[in-house]
Amino acid sequence: DQKRALYGQSMHHIDFSAQPPRGERPSVTCVLPAYNEAGSLRHLIPDLAEYLKKFSDQIELLIIDDGSRDDTLSVVSGMVDRYPVTLLQLSRNFGKEAALSAGIDHADGDVVLLMDSDGQHPLYVVDEFFKHWRQGCDMVFGIHENRSDESHAKRYLTKLFYSLLSRSAEIEIHPDAGDFRLLDRRVVLALRRLPERSRMMKGLYSWVGFSSKAVPFQPDERITGASHFCFRKLSSLAMTGFTSFSNAPLRVWMLIGAATSVLSVLYALIIVIRTLIFGSDIPGWPSIAAGIAFLGGMQLFSVGILGEYIARIFSEVKARPLYLVSNEISFRNQKRSEPQ
Ligand code: UDP
Ligand code: MG
Repeated sequence: DQKRALYGQSMHHIDFSAQPPRGERPSVTCVLPAYNEAGSLRHLIPDLAEYLKKFSDQIELLIIDDGSRDDTLSVVSGMVDRYPVTLLQLSRNFGKEAALSAGIDHADGDVVLLMDSDGQHPLYVVDEFFKHWRQGCDMVFGIHENRSDESHAKRYLTKLFYSLLSRSAEIEIHPDAGDFRLLDRRVVLALRRLPERSRMMKGLYSWVGFSSKAVPFQPDERITGASHFCFRKLSSLAMTGFTSFSNAPLRVWMLIGAATSVLSVLYALIIVIRTLIFGSDIPGWPSIAAGIAFLGGMQLFSVGILGEYIARIFSEVKARPLYLVSNEISFRNQKRSEPQ
């Protein structure tokens, strides 16, 4: 009996399939990367602070000011005394992936909610997120229900990118998923262990694993302003995704090279036999020129792919920090400095 009291239940009675207990009212940190979002944050912060009270008594809205040039800084720092707001100002615009990483590094809630600060992520979806989290899910993410607001070309390219990536990489990324997510503390700690500099967050969420669940939703219109992601930025993110999660672009050249060699040996044989039978006629320049151009093009292309990977290696070797924080203003310090 004494032993039983010491060890609790015997090993046979421990249910290993049971999920860790989830608190009824966890502390919540909501990470909001913001680049020139003063107009939206003015409305979003009060709404969020009110809405999240449903789920938690310890709320923190962690706004990452990603080098905004508008009055994001003054709007947010003006709210610190009324709302549970912490502002992390980055020293310049580092991009959304770095801003999210800064948020993940500094968020210390039991539950971390990642959300855009332009008001496109509807709050009611968060109810679903918490429902699944309580049922033991470690990561819940929103997926765009339909993309009818996007151009055909963009939808086609997105589809192509994800199908190529899922075929060549070891990770599976939901093509309609985004950065609207709920992360359990365990996932946050796992993400902090990934040190790479060239980051596509969507790939990293998927790489860390854990149980996850998709919740379809329809994004709202932006409160103000326009999207920051143009074709150039999206394609550079796609390139990062590919080179960080797949080696297929490097390997495919072995196949292409092998196939070309076999074909050229066959072609050489044909020429030799033809010359033996019919004698030598003046060889055709066009076929030679075409061959050289084709091979030259392929070589440049493959060297380009090598360069892409070497550039990533270079940025990893330099080991510069992902972002720099120039200023931190928090409702916590605010309270502490108040006279008692
Ligand atoms: N964002 C950022 N840094 C950037 C670009 C965007 O922190 O360099 C933030 C932006 O403020 C917003 C979120 O990332 O909160 C999503 O950006 P956006 O709405 O432009 O993208 P979209 O909704 O079109 O994917
Ligand atoms: Mg947006």
